[in-house]
Amino acid sequence: MRNLIADGVAAGWSYLDASTLTADKEFEADVVIVGSGAGGAMAAEQLSLAGFKVILLEMGALYEGKNFQQQERWAYPALYQDGAGRKTLDQSIGILQGRTVGGSTTVNWTTSIRTPDKTLDYWRAEFGSDLTADNLAPYFQQAEQRLNIHPWPVPPNANNDKLRQGCDALGWQYTVINRNVSGCANLGYCGMGCPINAKQSMLVSSIPSAMQAGAMLISRVSARELKWQNGQVRSLLAVPVDPYFQPDFKIKLSFKAKHYIVAAGAIGSPALLLRSKVPNPSNRLGKHTYLHPSVISGALFEDTIAGHSGAPQSIYSDQFVWPSNGQLGFKLEVPPLHPVLIATKLTGLAQSHAALMQQFNQLQVVIALLRDGFHPDSQGGTVLLSDHGEPVVDYPISEYLWQGVQKAYLAMAELQFAAGAKSVLPIHQDALLYSSWGQAREAIKALSLQKYRATLASAHVMGGCNMSADPAKGVVNLQGRHHQLDNLSVFDGSILPSSLGANPQLTIYGLTLRNAEALVQSLNQRIKTQPD
Ligand SMILES: Cc1cc2nc3c(=O)[nH]c(=O)nc-3n(C[C@H](O)[C@H](O)[C@H](O)COP(=O)(O)OP(=O)(O)OC[C@H]3O[C@@H](n4cnc5c(N)ncnc54)[C@H](O)[C@@H]3O)c2cc1C
Repeated sequence: MRNLIADGVAAGWSYLDASTLTADKEFEADVVIVGSGAGGAMAAEQLSLAGFKVILLEMGALYEGKNFQQQERWAYPALYQDGAGRKTLDQSIGILQGRTVGGSTTVNWTTSIRTPDKTLDYWRAEFGSDLTADNLAPYFQQAEQRLNIHPWPVPPNANNDKLRQGCDALGWQYTVINRNVSGCANLGYCGMGCPINAKQSMLVSSIPSAMQAGAMLISRVSARELKWQNGQVRSLLAVPVDPYFQPDFKIKLSFKAKHYIVAAGAIGSPALLLRSKVPNPSNRLGKHTYLHPSVISGALFEDTIAGHSGAPQSIYSDQFVWPSNGQLGFKLEVPPLHPVLIATKLTGLAQSHAALMQQFNQLQVVIALLRDGFHPDSQGGTVLLSDHGEPVVDYPISEYLWQGVQKAYLAMAELQFAAGAKSVLPIHQDALLYSSWGQAREAIKALSLQKYRATLASAHVMGGCNMSADPAKGVVNLQGRHHQLDNLSVFDGSILPSSLGANPQLTIYGLTLRNAEALVQSLNQRIKTQPD
């Protein structure tokens, strides 16, 4: 198995681990990009191929194929923000985000879905967006071709197949998932980094391609502040991180560029702009952060599920995403089942928890991703800065959202019984294993809808620097350009003006390709005709 970047560096590609630096240093480029995930890496590739000198900064470390040993105890601390322990301010929602070269794409579960039409309709109505399925189609096609996105041709693993069987039995809609893989061996360890380079994450696609075209990658560096004046960013201040990925302020790195792209994800990007005190007349910076808060339901089956094995996500159901009555919609999927991930979510203590874990291979799990952000009572969370300038998301859970949580528990239990479950366990502190749909239905209706009782999780962070045609309603314009600072763009999940009702990576790739194309044209005029 090749380590593409390490091999490329041996052959002369430009790479620096900032934690090895012993003195302050200054760098110059045409474009500096903060964050090497879906938005940052895709932008780096497009700009490098267009002939611009690019520097790509990443807070996480560089790990690739050979490093990925399918071990949770290594993967979570090495590859995830806060060692996979990130939570909202009041600790009521767990947040999974990548922190490594390739960002969350290095650890994601490969589901690739275009932006739903209804989401695009909402953006056009509320944010003056010009985006339609038709005008985005060429960019989605480009991303799908680039990342080998195609319907997964292999039968689903049992965890996904129970979702399919339940939908079949109830006459509910379901779809086979498109995945960004090439030569996938159906291992099931996508969340710990693909050990065979099959997942077409940014780590094996756009980043090597950008470096081949001359981009410099710097890992273990935390962007701290954009210095700006008179409507222009003048420089970026960054520092190396220590072995625990905390900023180490002893050494200062200064980056000067003609254009700056912030792509640090939907928590990191607003945090950098807040630390930099950029103009914020819309007062929306760091606000309207969406999570697709996800409700979880476990079920025990007679047959073996072995949900750690096989493509983690291969079936979804949109039966409940767009209810016509204004209630909160949710998408049904399954997560991969690995012991540490599941042990931290399962309810019960001591012997009851151990008893459930002993039945781990009979356990099937469904998640319902709540489609937040489309209703006045679902306006998302706020990115706040700690005294040390580190971000945390305050995400209040409204009564409207709690109603969605209850509906999701009910739908998931009904589905799991329809698929043949012997018992169903809504993941809620007060719930028990229920042995019939009737029993579960009555019990779920009586469950308290409160934080810390219902276990909620997210792997999809969106918003915080939302795009809008009108500067009064957004942080960036429809091309991701900052409304007030001329040479600043934001290219990542933070520009989404609502959640999606679908997994975000393909939307971020498509928007980045579109916005990078516009940026290349504008930079060609600005840089190539007036070099200084
Ligand atoms: C476990 C998991 C499973 C997922 N599964 C799917 C899926 O199957 N399908 C799907 O569509 N989506 C999935 N997602 C979500 C998807 O991967 C993300 O929505 C997408 O990668 C977000 O892209 P981004 O560019 O906004 O940010 P990211 O990809 O998260 O990249 C941001 C990068 O910026 C870095 N950074 C942050 N702050 C700084 C700073 N100050 N200085 C330097 N670098 C910084 C971070 O370390 C990170 O590497 C999953 C996510 C996770 C965590």
